[in-house]
Amino acid sequence: MSVKPSLQVSAIPAFADNYLWLVHDGRHAIVIDPGDAAPVEAALSSGHLTLVAILLTHHHGDHAGGVTELSRQRDIPVFGPAREKIAGVTHRLSEGDIVKLDEPAITFDVLDVPSHTAGHIAYVDHQHGWLFCGDTLFAGGCGRLFEGTPGQMTQSLGKLAALPDAMKVYCAHEYTVSNLRFAVAAEPDNPAVAERLSQAQAARARGERTVPSTVGEEKRTNPFLRYREPGIVRTLREQAHLASDDPVAAFAALREWKNAFR
Ligand SMILES: [Zn+2]
Repeated sequence: MSVKPSLQVSAIPAFADNYLWLVHDGRHAIVIDPGDAAPVEAALSSGHLTLVAILLTHHHGDHAGGVTELSRQRDIPVFGPAREKIAGVTHRLSEGDIVKLDEPAITFDVLDVPSHTAGHIAYVDHQHGWLFCGDTLFAGGCGRLFEGTPGQMTQSLGKLAALPDAMKVYCAHEYTVSNLRFAVAAEPDNPAVAERLSQAQAARARGERTVPSTVGEEKRTNPFLRYREPGIVRTLREQAHLASDDPVAAFAALREWKNAFR
């Protein structure tokens, strides 16, 4: 019996602040959200890795832009959201579907997490405790609501917040410091938020990534998972003129305030 090699997740920085995620066993690799083919090819060749599958969370170009080039010379599956049209997708997924690969040995449960885009999906690996959530949940923040409602986003984020606290959150952008500056403004009396901001600033000053975080860390400090907390509701009444007790109204006010926050 052969022992399955352990898996690693590597970040491939791309564009100004994207992370393309490479999961590999030392020989076979999958890539999640390859917005650009060139840095993926460079990572594959320097790691002597064979690309065996592509996984997409949503249709935006900085996530799917490298698919055509990466799959041109390769006969590999391209997994993507069932509810979005993306060139090159061979397997269309929605909640309840499972992606199971042998090499690398990995299994993902698919969740529907619409609102940033209408068909956005997330990939959950319960065995390793890894979540690939694209632009839905960010470290300290959440994606903009380009194609969905605040109500949909609260449901989508609620699904992710219900995952185990120790699960690692591999989001697709390095937005953490600016997200946490807003989080401090939204919840000034939460010392965990201020502490996380200073840790993130120190990490960036050292040239380090702040991603992945964990579900538990997000629940303690991310205002877009904490919009029901009295401290945030109080701030929203003062800063964003929130006049309602409805949690979705609080979430919507928080998201709109963040859109304008500098
Ligand atoms: Zn996006």
